[in-house]
Amino acid sequence: MILEKIKTIFKDLPERVIVVAAAKGRSPEEIETAINAGIGVIGENYIQEAGKHIATLGNKAKWHFIGHLQKNKVKPAVSLFDMIETLDSVSLAERLDKECARQNKIMPVLAEINSACEPQKAGIMPDEAEEFINQITSFKNLSLSGLMTMGPWLAEAEKIRPYFKITKELFDKIAKNQPREEWKYLSMGMSSSYKIAIEEGATMVRIGEAIFGPRRKNKNEG
Ligand SMILES: *Cc1c(COP(=O)(O)O)cnc(C)c1O
Repeated sequence: MILEKIKTIFKDLPERVIVVAAAKGRSPEEIETAINAGIGVIGENYIQEAGKHIATLGNKAKWHFIGHLQKNKVKPAVSLFDMIETLDSVSLAERLDKECARQNKIMPVLAEINSACEPQKAGIMPDEAEEFINQITSFKNLSLSGLMTMGPWLAEAEKIRPYFKITKELFDKIAKNQPREEWKYLSMGMSSSYKIAIEEGATMVRIGEAIFGPRRKNKNEG
């Protein structure tokens, strides 16, 4: 099942696009099946769950943190992950930078954009993004590599398109104003919306259910 689904996803995938398999609530066996089918990056929302997955499969894939990172989890996050996709405040950047220095590590990070300006959601507002990026540049142990957005929850996937467009425009604007070698990832789109996100310029898509099937409600979730 997982193998077939991944084959279908890869079939129409432009070469520039990296698939991050969103693994919350999945077993190590399911994740290993995905890796064996060609998935190179696993996305994790919860530190504890990620720790278990990485303990058994760590060297077989890259690991991206895609959840909301609490400041008291910065230490394990730095030691576990190859990228943090959800940088959403200067104070978090400060903590991450310090911890990376301690662990002698440069951490690739993406700035999370709250592309629909939803007050209850994490992420930087689009009109504050450039200022945010300027502030992050000073942290020597963070490698600022692009943007990530969730977009709003909408029953009709097509309605998310404008928020992907906003994020892509920001991505290009920042690339122009502050050219940097590592500025190359635009992470947007999930199972229901990744094709639209790719049309709008995503270079990274985070796919859960379209790879692993419907999610069982996880007790760690919510
Ligand atoms: C779960 C999750 C996804 C994938 O969602 P699906 O609808 O299962 O594809 C993508 N991004 C984030 C941040 C997630 O938490």
